[in-house]
Amino acid sequence: MNRRRFIRVVSAATPALALSSLDVLAAKSKSPSPIVVSTWEPNAKANEAAWEVLSKKGSALDAVHQGVMIPEADPDDNSVGLGGNPDRDGRVTCDACIMDHQGNIGSVMCLEHIVHAISVARLVMEKTPHVQIVGDGALQFALENGFRKENLLTASTRERWQQWLKTSKYNPMTTLDDIQRRIQQNHDTIGMLALDASHQLSGACTTSGMAYKMHGRVGDSPIIGAGLYVDNEVGAASATGVGEEVVRICGSHTIVEAMRYGMTPEEACLTALKRLVKMKGEAYARKVQIGFIALNKYGEYGCYSLLPNFTMAVRTSSGAEVVTAKYMFE
Ligand code: ASP
Repeated sequence: MNRRRFIRVVSAATPALALSSLDVLAAKSKSPSPIVVSTWEPNAKANEAAWEVLSKKGSALDAVHQGVMIPEADPDDNSVGLGGNPDRDGRVTCDACIMDHQGNIGSVMCLEHIVHAISVARLVMEKTPHVQIVGDGALQFALENGFRKENLLTASTRERWQQWLKTSKYNPMTTLDDIQRRIQQNHDTIGMLALDASHQLSGACTTSGMAYKMHGRVGDSPIIGAGLYVDNEVGAASATGVGEEVVRICGSHTIVEAMRYGMTPEEACLTALKRLVKMKGEAYARKVQIGFIALNKYGEYGCYSLLPNFTMAVRTSSGAEVVTAKYMFE
């Protein structure tokens, strides 16, 4: 029985012992090399920025922060920051959160006019006694800390929104056509997880949320435990897809707990998806897309989605790789 298999068997059989067994084995094991993983293939670019930090022995926290800033600043990425799709009132409202290896957390929700929501979330974590700041309060906090107010709606996102206004149909239930269209238009939320040379984990998640949502709607992405969770003893997870469904099952926390008790990252992602299917039924789950990614303390990674076409971008010292997620339903 190899070491990882042994860890899983020990963990599954004796949860109370699992952590101490993991710790002893982790201490004996060779430290895994740094790695960064992200939701969606086009985020390979973001991984490169994170890898710049990790390869110079920088922290996982700095790596995920720098990494997700890439799509935030990209006007052609229609799901994050500048150029993000607006809500039904034509307002671009961004959500982001960040979590480090010590359980420090920061989050902003429904933040307008600021390109780098993730940087504001990190400031919430590092400079305030709070963990979440929303709406006008988040904007006020950002401006007080030197962030510039900008218009995040671009000519093309404005034009598409104006087209959408002709029918004004909000349909978050994701058809396969919709998924294909979104992939062509670029991709969705970026969730990024990293393990650094000092064997510490961190994660970040940032999004402009579901296109044409109600003003003030917040999905899973800035919610610690739903869109992102990190437990430095075990692993980390992040999500993309219909946020309401991820919140329903505390997706990322559920995955980390499943890894704690011995599952591989891929098995843990599938377990969380199965929980939604059990709760809401197969007919319901077949109409929504959720994609999960997970990374454990040993540098093992995995992903799973409800519907096809979800991908995960991976970067290690061996180079870049794209993993196409297994999925539950055709
Ligand atoms: N999870 C995001 C949200 O619900 C959207 C997405 O990943 O596409 O806001």
